[in-house]
Amino acid sequence: EYISVANLAGALRLRVEDFVHKLEELGFEDVQNDHILNAEHAGLIAQEYNFEPVFQAEEDDGDLYPAPAVEPEVYAELPARPPVVTIMGHVDHGKTTILDYMRSTSVAATEFGGITQHIGAFSVPLANGKKITFLDTPGHSAFETMRARGANVTDIVVLVVAADDSVMPQTVEAIKHAQAANVPMIVAINKIDKPQADIDAVKLDLGRHGIEIEDFGGDVQAICVSGKTGQGIPELEEAITTLSEMLDHRADPQAAVEGWVLEGTTKKSGRVATVLVRSGTLRQGTALVAGTTWTRVRSLRNEAGVVVEEVGPGVAVEVDGWRDQPIAGDEVLQAAHEQQATSVSNLRTEKVEREQMARDMDAINESRRLEADRREAEEAAEKAVANGEEAVVEETKVAGPEVVSFIVKGDVSGSVEAVVDSISALGNGEVSARILRHGVGPPSEFDISHAADAQGHIINFNTSIPNHVAKLAEEKGVKILDSNIIYRVVENVRDLLSEKLKPKV
Ligand code: GDP
Repeated sequence: EYISVANLAGALRLRVEDFVHKLEELGFEDVQNDHILNAEHAGLIAQEYNFEPVFQAEEDDGDLYPAPAVEPEVYAELPARPPVVTIMGHVDHGKTTILDYMRSTSVAATEFGGITQHIGAFSVPLANGKKITFLDTPGHSAFETMRARGANVTDIVVLVVAADDSVMPQTVEAIKHAQAANVPMIVAINKIDKPQADIDAVKLDLGRHGIEIEDFGGDVQAICVSGKTGQGIPELEEAITTLSEMLDHRADPQAAVEGWVLEGTTKKSGRVATVLVRSGTLRQGTALVAGTTWTRVRSLRNEAGVVVEEVGPGVAVEVDGWRDQPIAGDEVLQAAHEQQATSVSNLRTEKVEREQMARDMDAINESRRLEADRREAEEAAEKAVANGEEAVVEETKVAGPEVVSFIVKGDVSGSVEAVVDSISALGNGEVSARILRHGVGPPSEFDISHAADAQGHIINFNTSIPNHVAKLAEEKGVKILDSNIIYRVVENVRDLLSEKLKPKV
């Protein structure tokens, strides 16, 4: 259960001096070679060096590891938890309308008088005492962003198909996403209040895309609803709970807290993040680590903006007090205490910074190399002209399109991702946009220098630019596209790309 510093250094194949130095940086005071670390600290340190710690005897006072998968007999004894649902479907088929309807029956609306705030998810209490948690951002990109980061938070996908429009391209896309993520699906055939509604046509079309509806001999439930009148919504909720029971969604409220960050943002009160609890019970005072940041929870707020005492599995809550901004998709784990949380977050930060630095250096070297090549070609051409030779300037043909580089910064991870998504899609065979880096927070001096070196631009979405950064940008001739409206950003980038194509005079 205990290991000396020297032995741990040996096990990690590190020089003892370096290792001791590292531990001191992490706040372990006065480390001698025979300083004894407990299993918890040793394990954490080992993990940060990419070793998987193996614990023998475990005294569990809420350490930072995801709870071991429980035995089936133990799992069966755990209480049921609310399922987490994402609504997907083609544009204008009624996702938002259905979510709005659900929201009007949410805990926030019914118990707290409807003072709702957007935190990324809300829970709906049902007549039978159960609850369903809906993720508040409909659509595929939020789902995919989370999944790309390894956060499979969705238990059930509700696929909305308008009965007057049937299966459309994004319907097919949603089916693919759900299937790729292995998430079971329920179909909500929407807009059945419309005279043009053709329910059977929808079911047949779905069958053609491999979705076999129950009354057509398959096993996918299809519920007919109207987001407008609310018709069928209770049946949809019932179908969700029935499927959740079948899938046997349970979790241990007594376990150490684990969860996912759904959204992060900065408010007047500081940095907050919505945490969807996967297991354990989140309370005031809990120390949490998410990615490279940590918090000791000061208060928990639900989707009504009301402070709550505690939140169990399957429910999302806004958590405050983060030292840095957590990012959507970060895994949240409970730490034993504040000190453990800080040392883990420090180790992780260092690792990320090292990796980022290496990537930045690569990008900078690459752009310097291109610049040097270009200059060399120019000089050779000039020399040729000076020598009276016929200048046979080889057209500097770079493989592929011309590239305009951007560094994207913004207030919350959601908006940064949205900007990155919409910009990456821009361009054509001749010119295209490249994202050098992206991140949450205002542009920094480093961002400016990096952009200058890469002859790129900065996109700033909804943060205020520090004066010294703005000044540096001006000095270095780096353009900052500053906006808080996505389509403006897209327009500006488009303009820059087409400028690049204009023949130079
Ligand atoms: P989304 O793009 O999938 O989020 O679709 P919206 O929820 O924004 O709905 C698109 C349009 O369809 C809006 O004008 C809604 O008022 C309308 N709509 C949504 N659900 C229904 C419904 O059940 N019946 C009718 N008649 N209109 C609906």
